[in-house]
Formats: sequence, C-alpha cells, structure tokens
Amino acid sequence: MPSRKFADGEVVMGRWPGSVLYYEVQVTSYDDVAHLYTVKYKDGTELALKESDIRSQSSFKHRKSQSSSSSPSRRSSSRSRSRSRSPGRPAKGRRRSASQSREHKEDKKKTVQETSIALPVLVLFKPSENNTKRYNGEPESTEKNATSCIILEQKLKPDLEIKRMLEQYSLRSRKDDKKKEEIYSEKKTFVAVKPIEKVSTKTKEMEFGGRIGTFMLILLLPATVFYLLLMCKQDDPSLLNFSPLPALESLWDWRVFGVILLWFFLQAAFYLLPIGKVVEGLPLSSGRKLQYRINGFYAFILTAAAIGVLLYFEFELHYLYDHLMQFAVSAAAFSLALSIYLYVRSLRAPEEELAPGGNSGYFIYDFFTGHELNPRIGSFDLKYFCELRPGLIGWVVINLAMLLAEMKIHNLSVPSLSMILVNSFQLLYVVDALWNEEAVLTTMDITHDGFGFMLAFGDLVWVPFVYSLQAFYLVGHPTTISWPVAAAITVLNCIGYYIFRSANSQKNNFRRNPADPKLANLKFIPTATGKGLLVTGWWGFVRHPNYLGDIIMALAWSLPCGFNHILPYFYVIYFICLLVHREARDEHHCKQKYGLAWERYCQRVPYRIFPYIY
Ligand code: NDP
Repeated sequence: MPSRKFADGEVVMGRWPGSVLYYEVQVTSYDDVAHLYTVKYKDGTELALKESDIRSQSSFKHRKSQSSSSSPSRRSSSRSRSRSRSPGRPAKGRRRSASQSREHKEDKKKTVQETSIALPVLVLFKPSENNTKRYNGEPESTEKNATSCIILEQKLKPDLEIKRMLEQYSLRSRKDDKKKEEIYSEKKTFVAVKPIEKVSTKTKEMEFGGRIGTFMLILLLPATVFYLLLMCKQDDPSLLNFSPLPALESLWDWRVFGVILLWFFLQAAFYLLPIGKVVEGLPLSSGRKLQYRINGFYAFILTAAAIGVLLYFEFELHYLYDHLMQFAVSAAAFSLALSIYLYVRSLRAPEEELAPGGNSGYFIYDFFTGHELNPRIGSFDLKYFCELRPGLIGWVVINLAMLLAEMKIHNLSVPSLSMILVNSFQLLYVVDALWNEEAVLTTMDITHDGFGFMLAFGDLVWVPFVYSLQAFYLVGHPTTISWPVAAAITVLNCIGYYIFRSANSQKNNFRRNPADPKLANLKFIPTATGKGLLVTGWWGFVRHPNYLGDIIMALAWSLPCGFNHILPYFYVIYFICLLVHREARDEHHCKQKYGLAWERYCQRVPYRIFPYIY
C-alpha cells in the first residue's frame, strides 16, 4: 500500500468536487482504510478528498501569485484582461511561439470576443461540444488532469453591457457576501462545463432509518396499501373500524396476475416504439450522458385508444373495481420480483454505475433504496420506464374504472360531480407528467436514487392503488357537492397546478439550457460545480415551490370527497410527510454538492416549502 503523500496540517491545493477548481486547503486527517484525506477549505467547509484530487501548492505557485481566489466562494476582482489564472488557459510559452502579427490579431480577436460577450457567461455554461473544443486547454502545471472537465475563467469588462449582464446573476465575492451586496464589483466567473468523476460511490450516510428503517418500510408499505383498500371497501371506513381480514386464497387470482403482466409488457412495447424524440439525460458522474426516448404521451394515447376499443366491445372495466385488492396483490408480487431481479443484477454492475444513495454494502438498505442507478437491458431503461408509464397510466385507468363502477352501482346516467372532479384533476396531473416527460430526467428519482424496491413498489403499486383512493372511496361513499364548491375546488387545483408546472419548467429549462432567453430575467447564484442556483422566480419564493404546488393540488383532490371520513385525506397527509422528508433529503444532498453556495441560497430564500411557515 503506498504511504500517504500529504501530512496533517499541510497546506495544499484541493479540488472542489464536481469541478476542476482547486482551492487552498489544510489537511486535517487521513483515513487509512478509505484512503481519503479530510481537508478544510478557508471558508470552513470540510470534505474528504482522494489523493488524486490534491496537489502540492508548488504546482500552482506561479498562478497563485496572480490569483486571490482561495475558497470556493471567493472571486478575484482583478481588472487585468489576461486569462492567466485559468487552468484551462494555454501555457504562456506556447502562446509566445506565435508570430508578433498573429499575436496582435489574436489580441484584437480576444478584445472583440470579450466585449461582445453578449455571450453572457451563461452561454458558456452550456455543456456543448463546441464550447468544449473551443475552450479546452491544459492546466499550467505539467501534471495533466485525468478528467476531461473544462474550466473557464472569464474576465468581464465593466462596460455597460457587461454590467447589464451581471445584473442578471447574483455573483458575490466572499467579502461582499457578509455585507450581502450584489455582484457589481465582481468581474470574474468560473465555469465548469462538464462534471467529472465522483469522489466516492460508497454511501456514507444512510437515509430512511438505515437498515432497520428500510426493513420496516418493506413490510409497512404493502401493509398500508392493503389496509387502505380494505378500509375503503367498508361501509364505515373509520380508521379503527377493522373488518375481518379476507382469506389469503381470495387475494390471489392467476388471471389478474396475467392482466398485470400483460399491462406491463404492453406498456414496454409502447416504450420501444421508435416514435418520439430521443434526448440526453444529465451527465452522470463519469461525464457520460444516457439517451432516453420521449414517447410517454404517445403511449398514453395508444392506451386510451386500446381502452376505447375494449369499451366499444362492451368489456366490463369495473372488473377492476370488483378485483382491486387482487390487482394490488399481483402488482406487489410483480414489483417484489422485479426488485429481486434488480438487486441481483446490480451485484455485477461496475462501481461507477451504482447509485450514490444505494451503495452502503448492506443488503436490506441497498435492496430498498436501489443499488444500481440506471439499470438497462440494452437501451431499455427500467427505472425511467417504470417512473411514468405502467403506474401513472394505470392510475388513470383505475380512476376510469371507478367512474364506470359508480355509474353502474348507483344507476347513474352521468358520473357524480365529485367523481368528475377527481378524475379530471388527476387526469390533468398524469397527462401533464407525460407531456413534460423530459422533465423527469432532472428529478431526484432519476439523478440520485437507484432502482430498487422503493421505486419499483412506489411506481407500480403505491401510485396506481393509493393515488386512486379518492375515486375508489367515492364509489362506495357517494358525496354530493354544490357547483360553487366545485368551482372553488377547481380554482384551488388550478392554482396548485400553475405553481407546480411553472416551477418545474423553470428549473428544468434552467438546468437544460441556462442561456435560454426565456430565463434572462432570472438571477442565480453560481456554484463551484458550474451549475447555478436560481434565486429569483419561483425558486426565489420558496426552496421547493414545485412541492408547494403539488400539495395544493393534493388537497384539491381530497376535498370533493367531503368531510365525513379522513380516509380520502390520506393522500394529502401522506404527501405532505413525503415531501417534507424528501425536501430534507434534497437539502442534504444539495448542501453536500454546493457547500457554501447552498448556504447562501438558504439565506436568500429562507422558507423550504410553505412561505412564512416552513
Ligand atoms: P426537484 O424537481 O425539486 O429537484 C430537486 C433538485 O433541483 C435539487 O436536487 C437540485 O438538483 C435542483 N435545485 C434545487 N434548488 C434549485 C435552485 N434554486 N435552482 C436550480 N436548481 C435547483 O425534486 P423532485 O425530484 O423531488 O421532484 C420533482 C417533481 O415531482 C416535483 O414537482 C414533486 O412535487 C414531484 N413529486 C411527486 C411525487 C408524487 O408521488 N406525486 C413524489 C415525488 C415528487 P441539481 O442542482 O443537481 O440540478
């Protein structure tokens, strides 16, 4: 085993994770087992770094004399037009070898380039091939960076145009940060265009209560689904009014299981159709980008056509209502089998393809949270497919079956107003998700969580069978609401939807193309990883505006069920708990990813989900 290269207390240059920015750090300790150095940045941030992410100060010396940047948050305000501090800048010697006149021309060209960077810095954020080729350069130190990450250190002239441009970004120097001043004094921006390899794929902190918590959840989640479905079928669905449990053999029907299989493979066939565009996901930790086919909305249309044909031939869709529990049991069995398959195959997956959150080394934990990040069979992405199709479209079909069952059981010529509202609101939600399918590629489920029992059960059982609870409830517990009440609930749903959609689109567009002119009025805080954090618009209102909109909608879905029982409110109560917990998880990840920049964001936007409350 090679001995450690840097001693405790030594001041060295440490790479900021996810970028090729190096900052002055002090080594505080060394972990012999993990071979990681704990280092402290000047702003107090402590991180564990690999030896390959640390360099001696001498390799930076000549640049250091020109740079004052010493922490991720610190930016120099030098007025010099030289780019000499950039690790991405060609070495001086190399530049001098050009002829005088060429150098002059180059200088002129540079001047034009710098003044005309109406090319706002944001354009450079775009990880396009062109940018990569154009700005790629070697670090001045002789040691070649093993990663293909590019860093740009762009000096901006304080002319009016640049000033106007800077107004859009909330870049603040560290000194100024204390005074909470805006960025006008700042003329320099670091841009990392492409992320690099991760520091370590091992999960250090377990979530969901660790091994015991995840074990309990594996038992508790299916039990909750069955309990809710049993309660919903009772005349009096009061929470403590238990009815005798059904006989075990009544829960299983091979025909129902066959329908579940048929449904899953039909949706898989739709997914494989070569219709719809193919897009790239966000860069993985290796820098690679996976491709995804966007055809969820087409799958929905085809499914609607298939259901239309079945209804035309008088297929009794309320069969679903009569056998809902059996369908849930079959779907649960299928999701369990899928989870086992996912875990077994993940054991052969290379380390860099494992999920950052599901690689603890403990079977139960990794089985639950998902060991492999993007399990694929060829180009068939299992997680992405399950996220929006079988479960989400299945939810709409179950809702429709409930609507037809209500009409049949209560002998109605038209469904009740409550049933129409619940069906329409939830249909809008599903259609919206499928229409904006691309947005799912920037969500935590895709970028952070592995594919294991949590998502397999969540996508294939929890979503279709728990989210359709209101419609199921209304079949057995008719609720009459007046038109004005219906109108008020509709307005509430529209408000929630508007917040949810515009917040998600704003973030998604910003992540995909920060230079999008539609986002020109938004400000953001730059981070050392090259990604920005929006601080105006919806993301400046609260830290998770999309959750706020989602919760408002969840309430609007429960209200048509009246106030006789709490059961139809299970969804909104559970959803608040889920999103509060999810928000805390996301904050934790963002704090790790963005360090000080995230703290600044939290200072600027103090409320998490509910303005002035939480
Ligand atoms: P988000 O879509 O909210 O994504 C969180 C990520 O957004 C962060 O990790 C960070 O990622 C990025 N981010 C955070 N703050 C900012 C900022 N200020 N500026 C720019 N980017 C920022 O998380 P989810 O995946 O949890 O949710 C997606 C949607 O799905 C939400 O609308 C949610 O309500 C919904 N949802 C619905 C569920 C349901 O069962 N119906 C369940 C769960 C979610 P990075 O910086 O790495 O890009």
